Amino acid sequence: MEREKNSILIVDDEKLNLKVLLNILHADYTIYTAKDGPTAIEMARENKPDLILLDIIMPGMNGYDVLSELKNDEATRRIPVIFITGLDSKEEEEKGLSMDAADYIGKPFSAAIVKLRVKNQIQIVNQIRTIEQLSKLDQLTQIPNRRSLDQQMVMDWGLAIREQMPLGFLMMDIDKFKVYNDTYGHLQGDVVLQTVAKTFEQVLKRSSDFAARFGGEEFCILLPNTDIDGAVTIAELVRKAVEALIIPCADGTTTTVTLSIGAYSLIPTKNDSIQDMIDKSDQALYKAKETGRNRVCRYEE
Ligand code: GH3
Ligand code: MG
Ligand code: MG
Repeated sequence: MEREKNSILIVDDEKLNLKVLLNILHADYTIYTAKDGPTAIEMARENKPDLILLDIIMPGMNGYDVLSELKNDEATRRIPVIFITGLDSKEEEEKGLSMDAADYIGKPFSAAIVKLRVKNQIQIVNQIRTIEQLSKLDQLTQIPNRRSLDQQMVMDWGLAIREQMPLGFLMMDIDKFKVYNDTYGHLQGDVVLQTVAKTFEQVLKRSSDFAARFGGEEFCILLPNTDIDGAVTIAELVRKAVEALIIPCADGTTTTVTLSIGAYSLIPTKNDSIQDMIDKSDQALYKAKETGRNRVCRYEE
């Protein structure tokens, strides 16, 4: 996974300290600086740095107060903080660490040690990020999995209620996939799932459209701000794109595959439920299967 430079917010009221830390770190990281507590908190919320280096003794708001405010805000709670401070008694160090600071470096500090301790924290941040990304992806198809679909649905649902915008939803299921597996083998079945998943991003043009693997050979697409006619149009594009796929087999031959799609859209209110949206698109999908497969059906009462 390609990554941008990690970013660090350095907070110190002494210009000289800021300059020294900046010199040590600027080659490897994107650096933000702040000279007082309130500015630091604002920048932390705004810029979401990967790490904060925080002085303790500052006029006005001290480092401890800054840390507790950061820990009290959902937006900044997870950013690790290293205290860099002239208060180098054991008691102060214990106080800092017990407040959930990630580390504690006494002044005067060695440039090499600052670099290494920062690198340690950044490594942890990057490992957590990798795990979070992996936990959202379906391993086989590399598109979002059910877990991230569930999260996305909650977000899009809330937005659609607030903005009173239609939310479109497509439920899709590969036709006669059991027969396909039985004919070509499970590995070739996996190739089909991967190939079908790749066509979604080719068809979907809006960044807010969200395709995911629902499970097995079923996929979903969330279409914010899309009414039922729009949802059916997108569904038709997906259906046609999948129908047109020429899927290579290991033995040099090729195969094709088709999808059935149930489409639904609503402007949700507080009395509606996400489960009901899924059920209705599922009913429409069932109708598409019943009436011959390789087709799009919209939900009708
Ligand atoms: P229909 O047109 O009615 O949907 O028929 P179908 O055969 O697709 O439906 P059914 O639900 O009976 O079969 C789904 C098949 O999908 C069964 C299962 O073996 C296969 N399947 C589910 N997940 C995977 C997977 O990850 N890899 C492969 N290769 N096959 C899978
Ligand atoms: Mg199925
Ligand atoms: Mg099927």
